[in-house]
Amino acid sequence: MTTDRNLSPRLLLGPGPSLVHPRVLRAMATPLIGHLDPDFLKILAEIRSMLQTVFQTENELTLAVSGTGTAAMEAALSNLLEPGDSMLACIQGYFGERLAEMGRRYGAQVERLEADWGEVQDPAAIEAALSRRPAKVVTLVHAETSTGACQPDVAAIAAVCHGHDALLVLDVVTSLGGLPVDIDGWQVDVAYSAAQKSLSGPPGLSPITVGPRARQAIARRSSSPPVFYFDLELLGQYWSDRPSYHHTAPISTAYGLREALRLALEEGLAARWARHTANARRLWVGLESLDLPLLVPEPRRLPTLSTPRLPGTFDEAGVRQRLLLEYNVEIAGGFGPLAGKVWRIGLMGESSRPEHVRTLLAALEVMLRSVKSAPAGGG
Ligand SMILES: *Cc1c(COP(=O)(O)O)cnc(C)c1O
Repeated sequence: MTTDRNLSPRLLLGPGPSLVHPRVLRAMATPLIGHLDPDFLKILAEIRSMLQTVFQTENELTLAVSGTGTAAMEAALSNLLEPGDSMLACIQGYFGERLAEMGRRYGAQVERLEADWGEVQDPAAIEAALSRRPAKVVTLVHAETSTGACQPDVAAIAAVCHGHDALLVLDVVTSLGGLPVDIDGWQVDVAYSAAQKSLSGPPGLSPITVGPRARQAIARRSSSPPVFYFDLELLGQYWSDRPSYHHTAPISTAYGLREALRLALEEGLAARWARHTANARRLWVGLESLDLPLLVPEPRRLPTLSTPRLPGTFDEAGVRQRLLLEYNVEIAGGFGPLAGKVWRIGLMGESSRPEHVRTLLAALEVMLRSVKSAPAGGG
């Protein structure tokens, strides 16, 4: 009656979690030590230093918050915003929308700058919005996992924000470790990610980095950040050379994240980005030959998350379910305005391998051939 995932491992080609390397799984089986044990503090220091390398930043306040990417989103906004502050939310998909909702819950006056799902933001539109109404914080998603679009011109957008005295918060959850993310080069004020997407770590720790402008803004708050658990200055003390207790770190998850970061740096960031691009291209060529053209045009298409358009002539949820049950392959459907219109196929971290692309394309070819002869909705 029990199902044992070890006997039947899934091929994870959805929007996360991604596959993890066996070295990461082994690391997570290491015996527990205390969260203030000198040996554990060395592990945190190693994680911090490797995170600075993958974020391409010298920001001292760089660490991983406990929780998944959503926790890092909460950390970013709860530290920067006070009730009544103004926030400009750039929204071109689900995660931009979520940032707007979180800003509202922290009491900010949120203005929305929307682009169609699958599109990206124009720096000139952000400039115009900030000229009309100044904002303390601008939120932007670099890699929109709901649409497969990658926001270009982040450096130009950061310059626009700083020209209007606004801080740029950038979501790099799906991009970090899979394509170039250059926090200091782009002058991003706060960026956050998650372990289980392109870094291929276990879910449960989420990298965040905070630049000098943002730290100043936090220091100038009139009240303490409302969420003790995500207070970044207190977390920074725990992650410092002279740590003090804040909360118990997820020890096993930290072992796993350290190993995932080591693997990323052993591969080298440039080689890793090139691998993600090469495998994404293999996938795109194959999807097009199956008459599944991609939603997002190539220059702004994400290598880590692809969104083939579906013709609407077959039961897409039925095909996904068969992929999972008959082939052990997980992909995801679209949601919001893209529900039923696209699939979301992730090639992140360890999942981005030529053999995985071949497996998926072969399975899709067989299944699409069989559903083409069956009526739509008959899944
Ligand atoms: C997955 C994701 C998140 C949220 O991360 P969770 O780990 O699911 O909490 C935030 N932003 C983007 C762009 C994501 O893809």
